[in-house]
Amino acid sequence: MEASTFKGIKKDESFRDSIATISADGKRSWIYPKKPKGKLYNARTLVSYGFLVIFFIMPWITINGHPFMLLNVIERKFVLFGIAFFPQDFFLFVLAMLTFVVFIALFTALFGRLWCGWACPQTVFMEMVFRKIEYWIEGDMQQQKALDKREWDSYKASRKISKHLIFFTIAFIISNTFLMYITGVEEWKHIISDDFSKHTAGFISILVFTGVFYGVYARFREQVCIVVCPYGRLQGVLLDPNSVIVGYDYKRGEPRGKLAKATENKTGDCIDCHQCVQVCPTGIDIRNGTQLECINCTACIDACNSIMNKINKPEGLIRYTSENAIKKGIKFKVTSRVIGYSVVLSVLFITLITLLALRTDIETTVLRTPGLLYQKTDDQHISNIFNIQLVNKTFDDIPVTIKVASSEGQIKWVGDGISKLKAESVAAGEFFLILPKSEITKTKTKVKFEVYSNGKKIDDAESSFLGPNN
Ligand code: SF4
Ligand code: SF4
Repeated sequence: MEASTFKGIKKDESFRDSIATISADGKRSWIYPKKPKGKLYNARTLVSYGFLVIFFIMPWITINGHPFMLLNVIERKFVLFGIAFFPQDFFLFVLAMLTFVVFIALFTALFGRLWCGWACPQTVFMEMVFRKIEYWIEGDMQQQKALDKREWDSYKASRKISKHLIFFTIAFIISNTFLMYITGVEEWKHIISDDFSKHTAGFISILVFTGVFYGVYARFREQVCIVVCPYGRLQGVLLDPNSVIVGYDYKRGEPRGKLAKATENKTGDCIDCHQCVQVCPTGIDIRNGTQLECINCTACIDACNSIMNKINKPEGLIRYTSENAIKKGIKFKVTSRVIGYSVVLSVLFITLITLLALRTDIETTVLRTPGLLYQKTDDQHISNIFNIQLVNKTFDDIPVTIKVASSEGQIKWVGDGISKLKAESVAAGEFFLILPKSEITKTKTKVKFEVYSNGKKIDDAESSFLGPNN
């Protein structure tokens, strides 16, 4: 990559040609980040614990005995905040996803990777659960390096085995919680308590999820953010020079130099102590500029602030800022891009809210049975045969009566008909609609059906009735 110039100094950009976690011969370079300390790390720890409590508690929350949150992708049944969504609501999901994508684009244009550092489950589990356990068992960066270099003996084995046992146990707990989000707590209880043969798929899922979570947090780690996560890889197009980033103030820090020179004001404020690099969980040097690997974890901010305090310089050499704030001193700017995203997001959001508000608990579809014409029941009446489908999107059984609206028509069910809709299910039936000849004026007459429950109209549907050409 080409070299850029700052204050007449040619800056080598070759760091962009490789990533810190892969060596020149293509092997994994293991990152040993120094244990972070500081105000932001403490705040992130608190926020993370809040998220962890929510994550583990959520599947257990029920409303009237029904889950508050269920993401059953296998049966395509979703419960969000107590409201059940079925495949028939797919368009709402598509719209919600679109709204979410635009929201992500707007959020990132404004606040950069704030999500990655503070709320992403990968960061929360990696940095606030697994990494903390690693520091607790194996010690800080130097002790971890020494332990890995050490010959296998009882000391090393006891530490490694206990760490991996704890990692595996936590992965197992996460895996079970993850499964609860998919199957619901009640079904999960059956999976773990019934015969293995009855829930083979459930058992295998738990083992597979455990293996994946263990593998990710014990070995794969930051590679998830660098190589796998699509959000991380999209940063190049989502960020702009006004987006909030964790940035190094090169105007203040450069030219970097040793402490003695900095105190004589011969160099910038950066004393090249490498503390910001040592704490970085993705192994980068933020002084090189914004990089794909930076998950905005703020560890380098804390590390640099503690150095600035020690050398009596103001904090914030590395801070939440933007490229334009460092380069041009522009604090915050509402760009046309942000305005554009905001307008699109508002339109999508209003549409989504309107459709959600109009969404009914029952969805009725009535279609004339294809391939059949009208039948004369007697000299005065004509009948058509219809298929009806009723979706009950609630958790309760609903008694129903189907009527023809504003007509002398009569419904005659084929078979038992539909008088009750079971909770969270689809009911289908077939019926004859018999209309007086006097009501048929065209070959195709619009007919409206209404669904009543306990005397109250709860839904309606339209179809067409075939008649003779008068
Ligand atoms: S921690 Fe601060 S002073 Fe030390 S190398 Fe990083 S930017 Fe420079
Ligand atoms: S550069 Fe700083 S904010 Fe970015 S990942 Fe490394 S330590 Fe975290």
